[in-house]
Amino acid sequence: MTLTVIRGGLNPDSPVTKLAGVTEGYRRKFEKVGVETIGDLLRYYPRRHEDFTETVPVCFLAEEAKQTVRARLENIRLRMSRGGRSRAIVEAFFSDDTGRMKAMWFNQAYLVNKLVAGQEYVMSGKVRRARGAGLVMMNPAFEEEGGAGLHTGRLVPIYPETEGLTSRFIRPRVADALPLADQLEDDIPDDAAGRLGLPPFPDAVRALHFPESEEELAAARRRVAFRQLLLMQLGVVLSRDERARHDAPVIAYDVDVARRVRDSLPFRLTDAQRKAAHQVFTDLAEPHPMARLLQGDVGSGKTAVAAMAAAMVAASGRQTLFMAPTEILAQQHVRTLQPYLEPMRLRLGGLFGSTTASARRALLAGLAAGELDLLVGTHALLEPDVVPRALGLVVTDEQHRFGIDQRMTLAAKGGSLYPHLLSMTATPIPRTLQLTLFGDLTVSVLDELPPGRQPVTTRLVLPEEREEAYAFVAAQVRQGRQVFVICPLVEESEVLQVRSATGEFERLSTEVFPDLRLALLHGRMKAAEKDAVMERFKAGAIDILVSTAVVEVGVDVPNASVMLIEGAERFGLAQLHQFRGRVGRGSHPSSCLLLSDSVAPESNQRLNAMVRYTSGFDLAEVDLELRGPGDIVGATGAQHGRDAESGLLVAGLLDTRLIAAAREEAERLVRGGLDRHPRLLAAVGSFKIAGSLS
Ligand code: ADP
Ligand code: MG
Repeated sequence: MTLTVIRGGLNPDSPVTKLAGVTEGYRRKFEKVGVETIGDLLRYYPRRHEDFTETVPVCFLAEEAKQTVRARLENIRLRMSRGGRSRAIVEAFFSDDTGRMKAMWFNQAYLVNKLVAGQEYVMSGKVRRARGAGLVMMNPAFEEEGGAGLHTGRLVPIYPETEGLTSRFIRPRVADALPLADQLEDDIPDDAAGRLGLPPFPDAVRALHFPESEEELAAARRRVAFRQLLLMQLGVVLSRDERARHDAPVIAYDVDVARRVRDSLPFRLTDAQRKAAHQVFTDLAEPHPMARLLQGDVGSGKTAVAAMAAAMVAASGRQTLFMAPTEILAQQHVRTLQPYLEPMRLRLGGLFGSTTASARRALLAGLAAGELDLLVGTHALLEPDVVPRALGLVVTDEQHRFGIDQRMTLAAKGGSLYPHLLSMTATPIPRTLQLTLFGDLTVSVLDELPPGRQPVTTRLVLPEEREEAYAFVAAQVRQGRQVFVICPLVEESEVLQVRSATGEFERLSTEVFPDLRLALLHGRMKAAEKDAVMERFKAGAIDILVSTAVVEVGVDVPNASVMLIEGAERFGLAQLHQFRGRVGRGSHPSSCLLLSDSVAPESNQRLNAMVRYTSGFDLAEVDLELRGPGDIVGATGAQHGRDAESGLLVAGLLDTRLIAAAREEAERLVRGGLDRHPRLLAAVGSFKIAGSLS
């Protein structure tokens, strides 16, 4: 392409600022969504496409259809709407040989100066019948006739709109960068893609952004989904082979020990916990490494099962490493485990990024000397100087948030014997997907909550019921309870029209709940600040915690009884379910209030599913159905291009033939020696199932 010549010297590693229009301000916005280089931008896939391919003369415009017209601007004017909040309305009349039509834009006053009378435009949008005024095209996308044709008249890419990055801004930048797609290197061997009739990667990238047809788009999506499935399957195959090559320490199933751990727990085990523990003990007694996934909804008591496993391992003179994805979670595990294990005299330590050097030295010395039975920690456990004397068991919490190279690094700390592996997850994975995602991991399910838990009542709160919801919140606080308020975004964003957490915090603390103690938690705060706020909330010093989505999976505040979610339609089902899991953890009846200003039917389906189903597994099945390949990620709260990619993965997971092909290809690649594909190997190692399923 000619552009390549003009852009000589640029390559996919060049910074995005090399593209026209990407100022320092935009560079920062792109950075926030993980786009730093031109290559990153090319991989910043659209969430979906708007089908504006149908082009008609004005006289054939049809109500409610998405259509494109080419017409000349006759006149244009700006007026303010009357009523409560006055809005700028731009009204314009266009005509072609067949007729005259009206277009309207809201809150885009600048268009009055941008659009020029007498000029010919291409416009795409939906047509409504207005009172008295005939057909009106509402907020159409437009561009000059004879222009690049990026916003109208085609399958138009819709990007995740966040951080002030609009699709309208992104499209021309991507179009500019597309010639460089030829230089994008993919880590999937070409013959693998070819065997499946999938397009070469550069073609797929082009088609993912600006497809010529639905068919081309579908093929491109399969290509990307296949890459993800292949990485996933390679992980499965590699871990399986690795385990098969090694012996594991035999941890005798000592019934006495089992009984003693059980009796030292501060509660009676549920049947599900007892069964899972028995399965784990049985596996541990084998000379092959255990590979078991402990799956249970939030609050089902997975930690107690892990504690019992650690106790059994300790009784046979071996040690356990227990890794959690964040410091808050790891700290919480230490606190939960302490009372479980103290009566057994197990020696427990916690190692985090924040651990002081001297405390760390002491812990590592204890671990190396075998004086420590269980070390809980974050990624800090992966460091090479963390060396247990006799590792018997590795526990990972939320295992999909670790790459297989991280799991393997931990496992390698077992020396010549491979430790047993217990992975825990609260992520509801549809039964149909378990095999795909986890291969030969055997699964124990905690499908039962401890007794005495109050079910969480979920309610959709309509805009006019907002005051009622606030009154309810205030009443709960008067009764001594605590409340979470979740807001989707930190910064004000016109595009998404979501209350910002900061603004919401101000509003709630001054106007709505001036007498209550509120605090704010968001992703831009330093880890130490976040922890401090969380600690105060846990300690009951805060009544209402206003937070963005950073409230970590698994944080335990039993006194919290209300989860109020603003802009609930913007979150995916899995995420909503995680939020809901923050309440109902104590003995208080709890509620989840879903607030939504949207009328999008797909959102309502999801929100209705939240009301109808309480089990994460049921919700996961619904989620998978709703997010069919048609509308890949939809408005599910995906904020990063990477999430759009995991959206494609979700689509791929519906495609059993593609999954089978990926498995076959993975086996073939591993047999042939993966070291011949170093880039692929690196990608496998760090591959995590991000976003969509977490
Ligand atoms: P999760 O599966 O979400 O990790 P936890 O292990 O953190 O759940 O347990 C949630 C809460 O339930 C903790 O406070 C824990 O002490 C408590 N718990 C666990 N098992 C039982 C049980 N059998 N009976 C009563 N409470 C339990
Ligand atoms: Mg947990």
